[in-house]
Amino acid sequence: MSATISLEECRALAFEAFSNVGVCRPQAEETADHITRAEADGCKSHGLFRLPGFIASVRSGSADPQAEPDIVDAAPGLVAIDGRRCFAPLSVARGRVLLAAKARSQGIACMTIRNSLNFSALWPDIEPLAEQGFVAFTFINSQSFVAPAGGTKALFGTNPMAFACPRGDGKAPMAFDQASAATARGELQIAARDGHEAPPGSGLGPDGQPTIDPSEILKGVQLPFGGYKGSAIALMVDLMTGGLSGGFFGYESRAAYNDDGGPANTCQSFIAIDPLRLAGPGFRAHVEALFERLLADGDARLPGDRRLANRARTAEEGITVEDRLYATVRELAGRG
Ligand code: NDP
Repeated sequence: MSATISLEECRALAFEAFSNVGVCRPQAEETADHITRAEADGCKSHGLFRLPGFIASVRSGSADPQAEPDIVDAAPGLVAIDGRRCFAPLSVARGRVLLAAKARSQGIACMTIRNSLNFSALWPDIEPLAEQGFVAFTFINSQSFVAPAGGTKALFGTNPMAFACPRGDGKAPMAFDQASAATARGELQIAARDGHEAPPGSGLGPDGQPTIDPSEILKGVQLPFGGYKGSAIALMVDLMTGGLSGGFFGYESRAAYNDDGGPANTCQSFIAIDPLRLAGPGFRAHVEALFERLLADGDARLPGDRRLANRARTAEEGITVEDRLYATVRELAGRG
């Protein structure tokens, strides 16, 4: 059973839950908005489902609910942020303004964030950059849950990356957003909660043997997608995040984690490129020609199209929230 609520209601509930535990207004607004954008696009594993974890990290002291990120203009094309243990959406929103200004003036810019509490979806972080005309990448590590190809011990986080590209004719940017683990951890948690099987290849149980029982994988280890190819991407993501920012690699993040069920202390990086400075004004039309060919082939679709369809639908119909989660969220918001 589930309740249906509007996106405004979702945002308000999340904001009230944060405010109730003393999260400052800027962190509460940005994080509630991030959660709501995930719900709007049908990404249940990174929507309200994450709210109790965020609240737990405030209660345990791992998040600093009053923190303001320290944003350093590190070089003409570089922004370096110390999140000071605030929730990541605030660092991203604040830093993105400087990142975009640098990418506009230099043609390319890079931003790193360390000491940041994050377990959110990634496309909301770069879609605004593509809406401003930039081709954008973001990478984020998480505490270690994933074994390298050939291994059985957790070394990498589920280490997702996302890429966004502006489109022609006023269309929303194309954005893909994918974990380098075979299955996002949030999906495994939801499968375990709902009694579903995990997709084959998702992970190993505590005995080191492959299993499709999500509860066993959560106790054991996840696997990268595509064997050594996904493992190489997970490695790159750790280097681009923990490495470039000077913060934690996935295993260091795991060692620092207090098991409160909330986001771990992790790192993120961004690259924004102005395509007008390279390809010139024909860039968007050229991109559309490629997409047209892709879409003309059988059932092929663009990454992100499912999300955008969900966005159009939820703007009209609202979102559904599983009953137990809805009761928890209302209680956190002081409406229980
Ligand atoms: P999925 O495997 O569900 O999707 C990955 C991408 O592939 C999406 O962009 C999706 O677009 C696209 N896609 C799916 N099916 C097709 C298809 N048939 N044709 C073309 N494109 C397709 O995502 P994951 O499970 O890997 O990740 C889920 C979320 O979890 C992400 O938002 C990720 O950022 C987040 N995450 C966050 C972590 C953190 O610590 N912050 C850690 C790990 C994951 P569409 O959405 O339109 O289907």
